[in-house]
Amino acid sequence: MSRVYNFSAGPAVLPEEVLKEAQAEMLDYRGTGMSVMEMSHRSKAFDDIIKEAEQDLRDLMQIPDNYKVLFLQGGASLQFAMIPMNLMKNRTADYIVTGQWAKKAYQEAQKYGKVNKIASSEDQTFSYIPDCSDLDISPDADYVYICENNTIYGTKFKTLPNTKGKDLVADVSSCFLSEPVDVSKYAVIYGGVQKNIGPAGMVIAIVRDDLITDDVLPGTPTMMKYKTHADAGSLYNTPNCYCIYMCGKVFKWLKRMGGLEEMKRRNEEKAKILYDFLDSSRMFKGTVRKEDRSLMNVPFVTGDEELDARFVKEAKAAGLENLKGHRTVGGMRASIYNAMPKEGVEALVAFMKKFEEENL
Ligand SMILES: *Cc1c(COP(=O)(O)O)cnc(C)c1O
Repeated sequence: MSRVYNFSAGPAVLPEEVLKEAQAEMLDYRGTGMSVMEMSHRSKAFDDIIKEAEQDLRDLMQIPDNYKVLFLQGGASLQFAMIPMNLMKNRTADYIVTGQWAKKAYQEAQKYGKVNKIASSEDQTFSYIPDCSDLDISPDADYVYICENNTIYGTKFKTLPNTKGKDLVADVSSCFLSEPVDVSKYAVIYGGVQKNIGPAGMVIAIVRDDLITDDVLPGTPTMMKYKTHADAGSLYNTPNCYCIYMCGKVFKWLKRMGGLEEMKRRNEEKAKILYDFLDSSRMFKGTVRKEDRSLMNVPFVTGDEELDARFVKEAKAAGLENLKGHRTVGGMRASIYNAMPKEGVEALVAFMKKFEEENL
């Protein structure tokens, strides 16, 4: 068996320790004689799994008691509709469009009400975060929406927008649990777990409880009401049991590693290795405005498409996988999530140096 350094943006690298634990429990989960995949979601064993997972997440993020934690299906993309269906009481919302995911959310919300694009960075291929300190917030906006870390473009909000008292909704799919957050600053904070937490197929939504009501848009399907899932402890129907189990293991791993302060320290250390190299390289360049750089997704280019393609191919042969950039940006992208060890980033930079020497 040999594992590669996997720089995929998602589904992405998971901690090896967690995969080994899951392997050891595959055929017989703690004396139950069955795999978690085969177990009733109403069983005592699974009840313990989901409750512990929620508690560990609450501990890690210090989630206040007036927030519900929901384990939902449909990925992050289903939230693009669930958010307006549950939150648009005035049928108005303000969106800050900083990338493809924010744009998709903005487009979906238009099905449900009046949606204002109050800021955008599309004019420069989403390579920066606009100044959001004094935006034209709509007086009757139900919420202000952001995508906090832009997976494709590699930008991150370093300060949250000034919403002038309006509720803030954030998609944190690709920065979930990468550093401490103050949950109380958000009305809804949500993310697909396949970027930084677990396998694909689930989204975790942390929702302030006053927003969880029966007062949703007419026609909202039962499965798309936050209240349905909140009332049932995310067990209204069969949830993604195995994914919840794997996420629970990652939460325990994060706790063992020292929690989110320690993750931030490690992530800053890893990102610095790569950005410092990009800033000194004569061949490779980062594509994002420096002050807006993400700790998680690092896009870069050589400026020559053929050379980019050769780099990706040769890197793969050297055990550095999934470095091809998103089709809308081109070049390369290294996603260096929590589970990417520092050694992986060092190996990438060593490879880049060698490639530069050989090709310049
Ligand atoms: C990947 C991603 C999504 C889409 O997630 P799905 O679970 O595939 O729907 C949405 N937002 C961001 C920021 C992402 O990185």
